Amino acid sequence: MNIFETLESEVRSYCRSWPAVFETATGSWLRDEHGKEYLDFFAGAGSLNYGHNNPALKEQLLDYLRSDGVTHSLDMSTVAKKRFLEAFHELVLKPRGLDYKIMFPGPTGTNSVEAALKLARKVTGRQLVLSFTNGFHGMTLGALSVTGNSMKRGGAGLPLGNAMPMPYDGYLDGQLPDFLWLDRLLSDSGSGLDHPAAVIVETVQGEGGINAARAEWLRGLADLCQRHEMLLIVDDVQMGCGRTGPFFSFEVAGITPDIVCLSKSIGGYGMPLALTLFRPEMDLWSPGEHNGTFRGNNPAFVTATAALETYWTDDKLEKSTLAKGEHVERVLSEITEAYPDTGMRVKGRGLARGLSFEQSELADQVCREAFDRGLIMETSGPESEVVKVMPPLTISDEELERGLALLADSVRVVAA
Ligand code: PMP
Repeated sequence: MNIFETLESEVRSYCRSWPAVFETATGSWLRDEHGKEYLDFFAGAGSLNYGHNNPALKEQLLDYLRSDGVTHSLDMSTVAKKRFLEAFHELVLKPRGLDYKIMFPGPTGTNSVEAALKLARKVTGRQLVLSFTNGFHGMTLGALSVTGNSMKRGGAGLPLGNAMPMPYDGYLDGQLPDFLWLDRLLSDSGSGLDHPAAVIVETVQGEGGINAARAEWLRGLADLCQRHEMLLIVDDVQMGCGRTGPFFSFEVAGITPDIVCLSKSIGGYGMPLALTLFRPEMDLWSPGEHNGTFRGNNPAFVTATAALETYWTDDKLEKSTLAKGEHVERVLSEITEAYPDTGMRVKGRGLARGLSFEQSELADQVCREAFDRGLIMETSGPESEVVKVMPPLTISDEELERGLALLADSVRVVAA
């Protein structure tokens, strides 16, 4: 019997089922109901950049609840919201010279993408959105239409139109000349391509297999958008909040998107919160045109503000993430060199790293071996061929070393 099937989720569409029932979690560790400990190299798929039950955030949340702070608000103005907006402007936007309006589109990353797509179409009056192969943007129909993975559409049976996937950087192993072909398609009135409203892109594709776009490629894309008057939407839902080093993942390329989607770690504590940022002059929303009950969750504002105040008043977290990321890359490279026959490759940027296998079954086996050793990891990529290495950014050097040693042991067993 496959042990991974013993605790199958009751909803068959959902596949993430480690054979344990988890009960508590602190920092980089999870504990199951029997007290067994697991080091977490999964970090809620990027929603726990500051670790589980981070004490600084927890303290603020408990204080807020003890003082009967407003929990639900249906997007009213609250002190928690005001403080978050101030902190986000002061600590995130201002130091980076960015000027965005901040919208709370709903509780999840998908909501942020939906608002971005809707706003881009509203602002430009155009319909087509260009997206990328292997991109992932969420599970509602608009977000699915720009998701470059047909399996995820699950036979939705609907014409998910007005979106077109283009080759992401590295598609065909870099054999495509950067943007000449797309520039030509956009300039040539006989190409049949409608003038797009926007382009949506991840700087590192998380679900698509930790594919990191080169900074020059991202700059080329931003330039193309400018020349052809298309809005650039960066989906930073998984790679934002420091996952790749800087707060926004697009900082590596020095580009300024027109719209930015943020969620996952922005709440700081694993609680749902999503933001859609857009250039102020694009604020054409009329009252009630984009609403939702759980937009802007107040307890999440409290932990989000605490996370910004704890980790983003200086560049310490950014530097340590870059250093840890380089260390992970070195160790993963040593692992791949030890087993050249497996065709393993190291991927990613910052602390979003991956180990890809030519045979996808091996990636799955590595995760199972790792789980048995007390290390939690998951796979991504179109064939689930990439083992994702995404610990909390706050992981200690010792914990990181320990997890990497467990990963190396797991690969040895599988690859030998
Ligand atoms: N965009 C990206 C880049 C993501 O990784 C995800 C989630 N994996 C989403 C959007 C959707 O976010 P959510 O699951 O919170 O709706």
